[in-house]
Amino acid sequence: MDPASPVIRCLTAPNPSLMTLSGTNTYLVGEHEVVAIDPGPAIASHLQAILEAVERQGGHLVAVLATHSHADHLPGSLALGRMAGVPVHRFGGAGGLEDGSVIRTADVEIRAVHTPGHASDHLCFYVPAAQALFTGDLILGLGTTVIGDLGAYLDSLRRLQVLPLRRIYPGHGPLVEEPQAKIQEYLTHRLEREAQILRALEAGREQLGAIVAAVYADVDPRLHGAAALSVTAHLVKLEREGRVACRWDAGELRARLP
Ligand SMILES: [Zn+2]
Repeated sequence: MDPASPVIRCLTAPNPSLMTLSGTNTYLVGEHEVVAIDPGPAIASHLQAILEAVERQGGHLVAVLATHSHADHLPGSLALGRMAGVPVHRFGGAGGLEDGSVIRTADVEIRAVHTPGHASDHLCFYVPAAQALFTGDLILGLGTTVIGDLGAYLDSLRRLQVLPLRRIYPGHGPLVEEPQAKIQEYLTHRLEREAQILRALEAGREQLGAIVAAVYADVDPRLHGAAALSVTAHLVKLEREGRVACRWDAGELRARLP
């Protein structure tokens, strides 16, 4: 085996949607001792396809890794672990992974990087030998992702900026061949959204829905529910920084400039 280029294969789960793009990407890392990253939702045909792919390449599964506990990532991980009788590793809990944890097989070394922001338990997985980064839902192959805690999210992106990276393997969408440019694009995008939100507030929009409609005017309205989460994350960050005042009014979040 060439240690600089461990075998990495991608199988996309059949769960396409607006949020999951073409479906959840499952990655098989290693040729003989294979680690499966993000087997996705528990879809029997997909889990079977993973096991068959491992067998076809003459390998055997030794572990399953999950980037985070969302429904399109974790259930298939747990199910595949049970089917194959191998451990499932994810962030936290007894025996769980933490920042800097290392998973070692005969083929490859994989390092866990705690990257909260999309989800508080989110890990990216880094393969130093290939300078490959598996980003789950932190960075997608297309478009941008939903954010829970924006401050944590931006910190996570900045942590990834210091890694030597050749390629990003996202949880959804195509491979990213210029990783650092993509990370910078994500950072810039968030700052632009922040500026747009501040402009909407300056224009007198207060209600969350009105801010979302203004900022995401060019985005499919079916995604406005998810966009509202991102705008809320921005407002929480801005309030923390003392730049916006938020309040709940009749079950609705309202914000204004102080
Ligand atoms: Zn997710």
